[in-house]
Amino acid sequence: MSADPNCIFCKIVAGQIPARKVYEDEYILAFHDIAPWAPVHILLVPKLHIVSMAQLQPEHEALMGRMSVLVPRLMQELGVSNGFRTVINTGADGGQEVMHLHMHALGGPRPWSKG
Ligand code: 5GP
Ligand code: ZN
Repeated sequence: MSADPNCIFCKIVAGQIPARKVYEDEYILAFHDIAPWAPVHILLVPKLHIVSMAQLQPEHEALMGRMSVLVPRLMQELGVSNGFRTVINTGADGGQEVMHLHMHALGGPRPWSKG
């Protein structure tokens, strides 16, 4: 499925819901989390509606590699200079609440509200 009309992150990708974007290309959108756990908390999402890591296929290798390589660049651009944390929650027991694959990237001086 390329987009799910009921999916909040597909709506952000489509520009139907506002978000504070930090990066966009043909495949990936990155934006600030609406309820940050850390001074810097962004989400990186594929533009394609992939439900979770559990649905990844070999054809998504380049996409996921691109996303990983992007994180240090974006964190640096956002002023994060002392390390960062990445999190991907997968499925109900993994604590995933939005069913569109996303990577959290968290940074900035501690303490943080979560994690
Ligand atoms: P999950 O628990 O699924 O890994 O994390 C979902 C994240 O999406 C949460 O940190 C939550 O704050 C964030 N989020 C949920 N809805 C929105 C929204 O409409 N806009 C933005 N920017 N973030 C959202
Ligand atoms: Zn979606």
